[in-house]
Amino acid sequence: MCNDIGDRRDARDDVVTAVTARDDSGAVTTGLAALEARLADELAFLQLPAPRWTPMLEHDGEPVADVAIIGAGMTGLAVTAALVQRGLAVVAYDEAPAGLEGPWATTARMETLRSPKHLAGPALGIPSLTFRAWFEAQLGRAAWDALDKIPRLQWMDYLRWYRRVLALPVQNAHRVTDVLPRDDGLVELGLEADGRSTRAWARRVVLATGRAGLGGPALPAFAEPLPRKRWAHSSDANNYAELAGLRVGVVGAGASAMDSAATALEGGAAQVHLLVRRSDLPRINKGKGATHPGFVQGYARLPDEWKWRIRHYINRQQVPPPRNSTQRVSSHANAHFHLGVAIEGIDEHAGALQVRTSAGPIELDFLIFATGFKVDWRQRPMLRHIAPCIRVWKDRFRPDPGADDDELAESPDLGPAFEFQPRAGASCPGLERVHCLSYPATLSLGVITGDIPAISEGALQLADKLAGLLYVEDIEHHYARIESYAEPEILGDEWVAEPLPSPASPR
Ligand SMILES: Cc1cc2nc3c(=O)[nH]c(=O)nc-3n(C[C@H](O)[C@H](O)[C@H](O)COP(=O)(O)OP(=O)(O)OC[C@H]3O[C@@H](n4cnc5c(N)ncnc54)[C@H](O)[C@@H]3O)c2cc1C
Repeated sequence: MCNDIGDRRDARDDVVTAVTARDDSGAVTTGLAALEARLADELAFLQLPAPRWTPMLEHDGEPVADVAIIGAGMTGLAVTAALVQRGLAVVAYDEAPAGLEGPWATTARMETLRSPKHLAGPALGIPSLTFRAWFEAQLGRAAWDALDKIPRLQWMDYLRWYRRVLALPVQNAHRVTDVLPRDDGLVELGLEADGRSTRAWARRVVLATGRAGLGGPALPAFAEPLPRKRWAHSSDANNYAELAGLRVGVVGAGASAMDSAATALEGGAAQVHLLVRRSDLPRINKGKGATHPGFVQGYARLPDEWKWRIRHYINRQQVPPPRNSTQRVSSHANAHFHLGVAIEGIDEHAGALQVRTSAGPIELDFLIFATGFKVDWRQRPMLRHIAPCIRVWKDRFRPDPGADDDELAESPDLGPAFEFQPRAGASCPGLERVHCLSYPATLSLGVITGDIPAISEGALQLADKLAGLLYVEDIEHHYARIESYAEPEILGDEWVAEPLPSPASPR
């Protein structure tokens, strides 16, 4: 555990609430071991995972996975778990070392998650798999009650446990370099691991590659000519201690802007200037207000016009930075919030960045662009073979005048099984075998694409759809199985056959 909340637990609460169970010898166990025993029971009660029911396939002497998942962050783990539950042969690849998947323990800089602590996250409807169960098993109910928001590194610890306790088939330090759908029902993957290139085959592939899953950082045009040593994107793995003594500008006002500014200040930056184009910070998180079971389950059924209208409205309103993150910045006397300041150009001159803004010039040593992410296929070389074929919303949808939105226009236009669909005139056999569950899918699918509130719904829906597709594809095989199925339920010795009584026989 990597927080100090344990110090606050009280023995009485532990007695009342800590999970207890008996191990194989009948001894009472408590804490995580007991939770894991309870989880094993819950899975057994639910008959999970189902036994494998798909045919074992090979290609070039190698086993073919039913589904390969690219990315083993929170989404990749949840999808992998849901597919394993459905009796499928899956493998997840992540380029990160084990335990360092996703942003939580690497590039994220917030102290706590934004999400409220009580959300069930990737638990897939299983109580003992929730963050709360994991937390209380170790620290007790009083600590849970005292917890405000989930510390960032503690969330990563929970995800590590989730993967371990479900024994999920993840291969770390495996970078997927190529996704090549074929016309024979397989998708070929190029992989790099241990400095070697290898290939693998799967019948379906899921992209669970995160916020920047189909692209990378969204940078303003004026960033591009600047010397790289003078700037970073908020998602870069920068060493903020190197900003000590510098005048740092942070462009943007979202959560990542606050986290970057606070980390720079805590690292000893001489001044931090938040340069915010808006004249005020957004105050209300419209996305949070929109989320309820109807929104989660019904959004994907909406007509295109409604999807665009909702997502465009939420985009335009923007998401406020969390209050605690903003206060973490403003608690420093050398933090400066500049609102209504648009950057017009930047030059490097006299050993500094000369930034021209709508409110006048400012001289800075370093700039952090907390400007979010965008769909940009060039930044995802593994998708280069299919990117030219993939239909995006702008290929077939025209928004109402005044509702243009670049982020939405570039979003993939996914089919009902979250699959990529071909552009008009494009030929890419097997493209429909590549499924997308990452943030850019939000316009098509709604909020089930990777954030904590609805990630279980996304994972379960996709797993159900993939199980169904694989069954239909193999119907000959499954029919033959029905035909060859020969397990008797009665043996023939349960009764004795008799002729009908003769009509002439007396009663
Ligand atoms: C700083 C930050 C804070 C956030 N805070 C919250 C929050 O409080 N609440 C909330 O609901 N959401 C939050 N989010 C949004 C979202 O929940 C997270 O981005 C979350 O990590 C999404 O999980 P994911 O598995 O979809 O993507 P990620 O966690 O980003 O995982 C994607 C994985 O894909 C792997 N990968 C990518 N390309 C390849 C490749 N070619 N080969 C192999 N592996 C590859 C990566 O190594 C990575 O591990 C936050 C996002 C960020 C960036």
